[in-house]
Amino acid sequence: MNPVRPSRLFLQLGILLALLPVVASAHPGHDGGHDLHWDFAGGFTHPLFGLDHLLAMIAVGVWAAQLGGRARWLLPATFVGVMTLSAVLGTQGVALAAVEPMIAGSLLVFGLMIVLAKRLPLSVGLGFTALFAAFHGFAHGAELPAGSNGFSYGLGFVAATLLLLGLGLALGQLTTRRPVWLSRSAGAGVAAVGAVMLVA
Ligand SMILES: [Zn+2]
Repeated sequence: MNPVRPSRLFLQLGILLALLPVVASAHPGHDGGHDLHWDFAGGFTHPLFGLDHLLAMIAVGVWAAQLGGRARWLLPATFVGVMTLSAVLGTQGVALAAVEPMIAGSLLVFGLMIVLAKRLPLSVGLGFTALFAAFHGFAHGAELPAGSNGFSYGLGFVAATLLLLGLGLALGQLTTRRPVWLSRSAGAGVAAVGAVMLVA
């Protein structure tokens, strides 16, 4: 394992943590509050402005790129598929407990996966991805107000998710050829944000 220079790591963590309150407060919904725009644009912008979704989706892409091979499409496809299915179940009144902590936990786990890189088998990775994707999707299906256009919102949400997964894949492809500390410290940063959200 390549040692990560502590000074560099702490600098990056510091920047991330300093940004956290700003970005996290920009995240509408999840708490029973509602996004104001339940349409395509509302669905598309939500993951982009919600730090928890944003980081988790990029992290899955980075991680998929690290694993390489089949994982590059299997992990993102699993994330989008399970997320969409659970969002639909959420609109049908299926209840899941601890959605918020599980979403924060997804950042912690996905971040650590990037730190660990290729040391976990793909089946374990797919299991974690499916589990956490369910909570990312469910959070939004469940809070959809009756009578609003969930289809357009969902379509926007899925489009943004695909974009972020693709961005993560591209970043992962770039960083796998760069020094290992780069992706490792980014993964550690994502995990740290998840840990902070868990205790917050
Ligand atoms: Zn959200």
